[in-house]
Amino acid sequence: MRHCLALLSGGLDSILAIRLMQQQGIGVEAVNFKTVFTCCQDQSAQAARDLNVPLTVIGQDADYLDLIKTPKFGYGRGANPCVDCRIYMFEKAKHYMEQVGADFIISGEVVGQRPMSQKRRDLERISYHSELEDLLLRPLSAKLLPPTLPERKKWVDRSQLYDFHGRSRKGLIELAKRFGMEDIPSPSTGCALTETRFSKKVFDLNLRQPTSGLWDYGLLTIGRHFRLNAEVKAIVGRHESENLQLEYLHQLPDATSSALLRPREFSGPAVLLIGPMEKETLAFAGGLIMRYGSAQDLSSEATIEVLGREGTLFLAPTACRSAQSAVPITEC
Ligand code: SF4
Repeated sequence: MRHCLALLSGGLDSILAIRLMQQQGIGVEAVNFKTVFTCCQDQSAQAARDLNVPLTVIGQDADYLDLIKTPKFGYGRGANPCVDCRIYMFEKAKHYMEQVGADFIISGEVVGQRPMSQKRRDLERISYHSELEDLLLRPLSAKLLPPTLPERKKWVDRSQLYDFHGRSRKGLIELAKRFGMEDIPSPSTGCALTETRFSKKVFDLNLRQPTSGLWDYGLLTIGRHFRLNAEVKAIVGRHESENLQLEYLHQLPDATSSALLRPREFSGPAVLLIGPMEKETLAFAGGLIMRYGSAQDLSSEATIEVLGREGTLFLAPTACRSAQSAVPITEC
């Protein structure tokens, strides 16, 4: 019995690709690729349960950021370097395939479905640069692509594969119904890099702090981000769970934050400060607490704990006008 490794996002396409292999009696093991920018691991775990396949989650390493900063094949609509990212994913999957002794890899990619990474030329690039070449089979569009090794060796019956192309989901949904699927997952990349507003934070970091590591990029998914100058940024928690996340991140060994500020004796957000802790920057961060906290109505100074310095900041509501007018990076 032949075995393949499937990239499983939990979306309809990857589910159907696996069903097509199972229909031919091929054993399937799945991997889900997780980055600091993706969500939807629950969706892939649920899909793996429904499909009755083992699932392994593979994360990115620090070198993933090279393609976020300088992608060889460029960005999509946002800060999404999809072709480079897919090559990276498949390189990781290839390594895992060799570890577990699978015979080939499948994915749910459909020719022409996504403008950034699924044009025929992109699919060829991904196969080539990941060094999978013809060990990478796309069952949903296989009939539009040259026969891969599993097809030529007759491990997979090509006649039972498909020639889907383009953005329409109609044929895919019909196929899902033939497989008896009732809940059809709606299309979503689950990747923040494709969002225009989020991308502004990524490009800001790429430009202003080009040596940033995974900690800094992961932080982009939390809170409102304000930039005071090239060196200084303040991140404001939008609700208590983000406040707690900021506190947690501040304590991690690879944290680049210089201080965490929290209001004392009034309610308000946590603010994480990136950059030198100086009078002006502390006043800026403290001013953001005043702006989003209940101390706005106070006429006297407010007390703010500076956890990174184990100190206290006394700040009048009018002390930091730049914080009152600051615009989040996502709205710049
Ligand atoms: S949408 Fe995000 S995770 Fe998916 S290929 Fe593009 S960059 Fe990678």
